[in-house]
This record gives sequence, C-alpha cells and structure tokens, in this order.
Amino acid sequence: MSRTPIAAATAQRIRKDAQNRCGYCLSPQHLVMARLEIEHIVPRAKGGSDDESNLWLACPLCNRHKSDKTHAPDPESGALTPLFNPRTQNWFEHFRWSDDGLHIIGLTATGRATVAALRLSDDPDAVLVRGFWVVAGWHPPKA
Ligand SMILES: [Zn+2]
Repeated sequence: MSRTPIAAATAQRIRKDAQNRCGYCLSPQHLVMARLEIEHIVPRAKGGSDDESNLWLACPLCNRHKSDKTHAPDPESGALTPLFNPRTQNWFEHFRWSDDGLHIIGLTATGRATVAALRLSDDPDAVLVRGFWVVAGWHPPKA
C-alpha cells in the first residue's frame, strides 16, 4: 500500500500541539538525539487513518515499542486495555514520575498497560539518559 506523506503544515501543527515532545515519555525534541516522529495513534496496520486526529508525536524509542499495538494487558488485572491516547487523554491523569525521576508509573489501567507495552519505565537506554537529565536539572517535567 502506498503512503501519502504527511503535509508539512500538518506535521508542524502536530509538533506544536504536542509541545514538541513525545506523547508517551514526554522527552522533548531538544533532548532527543533523533527527530521525534509523527506516529499513528491507531496504527495504519490496524486501520488507523492519516487524519490529523489520529496523529501525534513520539520519540523513536516509544514508537518502536508501541509498534502496531492499540491495547495491552493491564499488569494488575490482566485485562486487555486500550493504550494511552496522547491526543485525547491527559498524561498526568494516567502516569506519574517516580521520586527519582527515572521511571514512569502507571496510575490507571491504561497507564499501567501503556507503561508495560511501551517499556516507559524499564527501557535501559531511557533510564540511563534520564539519570543524566535529572542531574542536569532538566527532568522530570512538571506539566
Ligand atoms: Zn517517548
């Protein structure tokens, strides 16, 4: 299937709406050594459209872990749960930072399922880098 590239103006608007940071781990563009990606909230492989309402910003790490997932088990109940939608849901209602700023903790079923599926708390590369951000005073974001 051919893909229509996302229009530059649309991509620019999504970056602005997403505050130029990953919708899942909140890593800002200026601290990520790769271009944040326009991701499909519902993946194209699962019938998600290229409509702006289905697009958001993600870092390559989160985007890779998310892959074509839309749901994941909540580790607490085992129930298949929709992943966090960064466009329509508030990050701070579903997640919080650990006291040391290194880990993301799910507060809801959606938060817990997303933390597990996207490895928001235990990806070793992310945890290592966040440790330096904490020392520098750049992390964690408060809002
Ligand atoms: Zn991320």
